[in-house]
Amino acid sequence: MAIRTIRKEGDDILKKKAKPVQEVNAATLALVDDMLETMRSIDGVGIAAPQVGALKRIVVIEYEEDLYELINPEIVEIDGNQVCNEACLSVPGRCGDVDRPFKITVQAMNRAGEIQTHTVDDFMASVFCHEIDHLDGILFLDKARNVQLISDEQLKKRKRERRERARERRRAAGRR
Ligand code: ZN
Repeated sequence: MAIRTIRKEGDDILKKKAKPVQEVNAATLALVDDMLETMRSIDGVGIAAPQVGALKRIVVIEYEEDLYELINPEIVEIDGNQVCNEACLSVPGRCGDVDRPFKITVQAMNRAGEIQTHTVDDFMASVFCHEIDHLDGILFLDKARNVQLISDEQLKKRKRERRERARERRRAAGRR
């Protein structure tokens, strides 16, 4: 595994459409592992292959105890709406409001090459949409309103608060 350089806004690769993975092989898995390691090294929630310089339709998302390794993800169902204030590893220092579905269902291959279906809502639905947009060369900035500057400190505080809320939700669910 290796930590790869995150491509930043202005890099042409972020504007390109990524190609489907034809076969899940050792090179695919090495890329997935590198994406995971790179994302963890900077405390990210999601990363798409073009962000590490690979034009492949692969997304890795990790939040709390949930890890998704999505190869050739396709959104098959959307429901509802939400407005999310988003940031991006490739767009440091900025955030903005983006319209997203509240709930989505995605089909994707896992690392064993099996097709799986995932339904997620709320924050995770926005993360899935944000990352899948990267595979089509779309940055949140292309869709965002009210783009503002955000400091690393503010981003860290926001992550802490989000994790705290997620933990609280799990505790509440456990008590039922
Ligand atoms: Zn992003």
